[in-house]
Amino acid sequence: MIELEGLTKRYGEKVAVNNLSFTVRPGIITGFLGPNGAGKSTTMRMVLGLDRPTAGDVRIDGKHYDQLKDPLTYIGALLEAKAWHGGRSAYNHLLCLAQSNGIPTRRVREVLDTVGLTAVAKKKTKGFSLGMGQRLGIAAALLGDPRILMFDEPVNGLDPEGIHWIRNLMKTLASQGRTVFVSSHLMSEMALTADHLVVIGQGRLLADTSMADFIAENSRSYVRIRTPQRERLLDVLHGEGVTAVEAGEVLEVDGDKAEAVGELAARHQIVLYELSPQRASLEEAFMQLTAESVEYHAHDGQPAGPVPPGQQQQQQQQWGSEWRKG
Ligand code: ADP
Ligand code: MG
Repeated sequence: MIELEGLTKRYGEKVAVNNLSFTVRPGIITGFLGPNGAGKSTTMRMVLGLDRPTAGDVRIDGKHYDQLKDPLTYIGALLEAKAWHGGRSAYNHLLCLAQSNGIPTRRVREVLDTVGLTAVAKKKTKGFSLGMGQRLGIAAALLGDPRILMFDEPVNGLDPEGIHWIRNLMKTLASQGRTVFVSSHLMSEMALTADHLVVIGQGRLLADTSMADFIAENSRSYVRIRTPQRERLLDVLHGEGVTAVEAGEVLEVDGDKAEAVGELAARHQIVLYELSPQRASLEEAFMQLTAESVEYHAHDGQPAGPVPPGQQQQQQQQWGSEWRKG
């Protein structure tokens, strides 16, 4: 279990982590989601005692990291992709780590096998691809057979096969009753892996919820309508007590009402160019949630806060460039 209480980190004027309180529980995957610069890596570094909190507290099974005896046997972590020593082989890298942390030598072969690096174990790591480097980092995290695993953006830069492998590994670790805490800036990634979701923006807690609840609350369905007789259709819908929202070129009606709208339009001889059932994406829900806290906007002058459905696409495109960065 990892417990944060009022955890705060300032760098000069910048508040990187702002009064975060939440608990990461065993037996499930907890996704730690937030746009770039939200404070995920800083939080994870504080868990490991690599950064000192300005205020607040973070504990691992009730203790601070530096109070843990043989910490690698309590918590294993993969931090942001790092440059490898290079001169050493994967085997020797892990052997050094095992020997200096009171971990039995046999674990080295076991974890190399788990991450699929046995065949290249004696090769120098400087020739390793990004994916192999991530696997070696994960091998190091698993070395002490810890009950708690923490991964910072583990799928960044991996190919689909590597992504699939990491997802399955995390699921296996959680099913063994371990605590799995994994960060990402991608909602789509979290939706596929996490059981529980902690969302932050500009260092602040925005949501702490089960993934099932997040999906239930945020996957709104609606109907998208395009017509050259917009005013007439609005009148007809209004007459039937159906609310339509104007969203740029199109109209939107909440719910699964495509057939009802089609019948109404036909009855009143209104021409439709488009009548399509839509489902709001989780990515949009995440962007709405973090809209006010996105650190850099590609353009200014866009309203912050809840956005009518039709404008979301536009906003998504505007932020896309920042969103995908690093
Ligand atoms: P994330 O991992 O969610 O992308 P980070 O934790 O890396 O976010 O960064 C959070 C904020 O803190 C960012 O604005 C970043 O620029 C700032 N920051 C992180 N580390 C430092 C540091 N060592 N000195 C100054 N600012 C930092
Ligand atoms: Mg980060």
